[in-house]
Amino acid sequence: MLPSRFEYHRAGTLDEALSLLATHGDEAKVLAGGQSLIPMMKLRFAYPGHLVDVNHVDGLDRIEERDGMLCIGALVRHNHLAANEIIKARYPTIASAAPQIADPLVRNLGSIGGSLAHADPAGDLGSVMLAMGASAVLRGGGGERVLPMSEFLLDTFTTAIAPGEMLTEVRVPIPPARSGGTYLKLERKVGDWATVGVAVALELSNGRIGRAGIGLTGVGLKNLEASDAEASLAGATPGEDAFAEAGRLAAAAANPVADVRGTVEYKRHMVDVYVRRGSAHAFETARRAG
Ligand SMILES: Cc1cc2nc3c(=O)[nH]c(=O)nc-3n(C[C@H](O)[C@H](O)[C@H](O)COP(=O)(O)OP(=O)(O)OC[C@H]3O[C@@H](n4cnc5c(N)ncnc54)[C@H](O)[C@@H]3O)c2cc1C
Repeated sequence: MLPSRFEYHRAGTLDEALSLLATHGDEAKVLAGGQSLIPMMKLRFAYPGHLVDVNHVDGLDRIEERDGMLCIGALVRHNHLAANEIIKARYPTIASAAPQIADPLVRNLGSIGGSLAHADPAGDLGSVMLAMGASAVLRGGGGERVLPMSEFLLDTFTTAIAPGEMLTEVRVPIPPARSGGTYLKLERKVGDWATVGVAVALELSNGRIGRAGIGLTGVGLKNLEASDAEASLAGATPGEDAFAEAGRLAAAAANPVADVRGTVEYKRHMVDVYVRRGSAHAFETARRAG
C-alpha cells in the first residue's frame, strides 16, 4: 500500500529540525532510519502530514564518554553500536544486544533513537537501556529534559516525547571496573523479533552484588524493568541461590501474551531461565573484569 500524502523536510541542523517540529506540532514525525516508520506509513497505521528527516543533522551520530556518562547520539545505527570499540570494551550488555537486532540491512539504517522512540515492547534496546539505568535526553522549544528510561517508555508505542520535541541522546552511566552484563534473546530464527529477551547488568562491590539492572523484552505492554528481581540481587552474595530467586521474581513480573512465538507459560519460564543464566554470566564477566 502507498502511504498517505505528506510533506518531506530535510533538516540540516538540530535547530532546523526543532523549528520544523515546533511549526508542525503533532502533524510532524521525525524520520531517522525509516525501518519502523515507513512500514507503519505504508500500512496506514501512521499518517503524518510532515516528515522531518534528521539523517543529515551533524553531531547526532556520536558515541563518546563524557562527564561520567556514555553519550550515544540518537542517530547512532545499530551496526555502529555493535562495532564501537568503547562499547565492546566496557558495555557488554549493549555489545551483546546490538548484533542480535533484526538483520544486517535493518541494522545498517535503524537507529537507537528510532528504536527507543518507536517503543515497541518487542524492541531490544529499551530493555538494555532499562538494565543500564540509562536516561533519554529530549530537546524542544522549551529546552532540554533528561528522563530516566523508566519514565521515558510509557506504554506500547508510547513515550514521553511531547509534540515539538525530539530525542537527541541516550546517556548511560559509566559502570565501575567490576561490572558485567549480557543480553540473551530467544528468537525463532536469526533476525526475528524476540520471543523473550533479557538484559542484565551487574556491578560487584566488596564481594557482593552492588547495583543490578534487569530489563525484559517481549513479555509486557512495554519493555519491563524487573524491579523486584533487581532489588533481590542488590547486596546479595553472588551465586546460584541469588540468581534463581531473581529468575523467579522476574518471571512473576513478566506479563506475556500467547502468540505464534509461544504460550504464556513458555515465555514466563524462559524469562526465569534467562534471568538466572544472564545473571550468572554477568557475574562471571564482572568477576573477571576486576
Ligand atoms: C524486518 C525488521 C526486523 C526488525 N527486527 C527488530 C528486532 O529484532 N529488534 C528490534 O529491537 N528492532 C527490530 N526492528 C526495528 C528496528 O530496530 C528499527 O530500526 C527501529 O525500531 C526504528 O529505528 P529507525 O531509526 O528506523 O526509526 P524510524 O523508523 O525512522 O522511526 C521510528 C519512530 O521513531 C520516531 N523517531 C525516530 N527518531 C526519533 C528521534 N530522534 N526523536 C524522536 N522521535 C524519533 C519516528 O518519528 C517514528 O515514530 C526491525 C525492523 C524491521 C524492518
